Amino acid sequence: MTDAEALADRLQSGELRLYELDDHTDPETAATARRLYVQRETGATLDTVGEYSFDADTAEPNIENMIGGAQLPMGVAGPVPIDGSGADGEYFLPLATTEGALLASVNRGLSAIRASGGATARVTDTGMTRAPVFQVPGVAEAETVIEWVDDNTETLREAAESTTSHGELLEIDTYVVGDNVFLRFIYDTKDAMGMNMATIATREASEIVEAETPARLVALSGNLCSDKKPAAINAIEGRGRSVTADVVIDRELVEERLKTTPEAMAEGNTRKNLIGSAKAASLGFNAHAANTVAAAFLATGQDAAQVVEGANAITTMEAREDGLYASLSFASLEVGTVGGGTGLDTQQEALELLCLHGGGNPAGANADGLAEVIAVGALAGELSLVAAFCSRHLSSAHEELGR
Ligand code: NAP
Repeated sequence: MTDAEALADRLQSGELRLYELDDHTDPETAATARRLYVQRETGATLDTVGEYSFDADTAEPNIENMIGGAQLPMGVAGPVPIDGSGADGEYFLPLATTEGALLASVNRGLSAIRASGGATARVTDTGMTRAPVFQVPGVAEAETVIEWVDDNTETLREAAESTTSHGELLEIDTYVVGDNVFLRFIYDTKDAMGMNMATIATREASEIVEAETPARLVALSGNLCSDKKPAAINAIEGRGRSVTADVVIDRELVEERLKTTPEAMAEGNTRKNLIGSAKAASLGFNAHAANTVAAAFLATGQDAAQVVEGANAITTMEAREDGLYASLSFASLEVGTVGGGTGLDTQQEALELLCLHGGGNPAGANADGLAEVIAVGALAGELSLVAAFCSRHLSSAHEELGR
């Protein structure tokens, strides 16, 4: 009997609980034991789930009760030249998805961008947020707290930054609702997406606010942050990286590669992405930016739930004399090249493919680069999908490629 089988027996007898296995063996054996146990209990076969190639030890901070790996097909789109602040050169974009036609769509858009000489991209703002909520007796005390925070921002900065060697506190925005005070801490988290970093730093600063003012900390996250939920504050103020990609595509290329005209695309974009989205009161004024964001996030080890914020993007298209000007502006693209899932073997390889793995030089440059590459990939997806609507090719492309 193997160690894993013996541990699975102990799970089945109730002697051990699933989460207790890590105290009795190494992560890989624990995963095998849990898988055996779950197979016995459910009758399911989990052989493929058990055939994962990443190192179970590396994955330990990323998951509890691990039983194996969930695999997805990964493809590549490009290459595409990008003139960016963190990304500069030719890039292949790794995308992991189960949506047939997505890679083809992004690739078609990238080929039009490539033929036009490449896209430009810039991160225009950076700031990861954590917004604790404090309770105060009333609005008079709320005013006292806000004044204290304004007068003592330097003390709070020192406390917050004592917890990290990379993170920098940029700003604290204050909000009052009745007897609630929200302090929205905004950090430059460099190459980390930064949610853990910002939370730890904010906890340190919040303890001082509690000690020095009438405020009582209720929750370290008061939802004004706002993480993993549709929220206008992120679409307006930004969160993570605000990044824009743009391109001018020659008129002949629009006709040849995208099978339509700049005028038709500009009209399609206005009526669909702008007017339709306005009527729907959407936070995302785009065709399917979240598709590229989700696939790039899965490939490169980003926090998949933050695709919610990654959908806050506006696509513009304008017919110009020389062709089509198109842009895509993400307000809140939350990406990192260190921390989170970026250390897993396959995700690490995907980041290496982009030459954007690990910390950048200067710190923050790699995460800027990743944001810019994703923005260009998503812009390509917008070009391709809007063109497909304009030339009425959408359903046939899905029929041919996705079904
Ligand atoms: P993290 O892995 O917790 O922290 C990043 C680490 O990288 C820090 O220890 C930092 O060190 C280090 N680092 C090394 N080189 C760096 C560089 N060039 N730039 C920035 N940091 C560098 O990751 P995180 O990005 O803060 O948080 C991401 C994780 O948070 C994900 O797993 C996500 O799922 C999870 N998450 C947490 C919450 C929450 O509320 N806690 C919410 C959502 C998601 P120093 O700090 O010492 O500088």
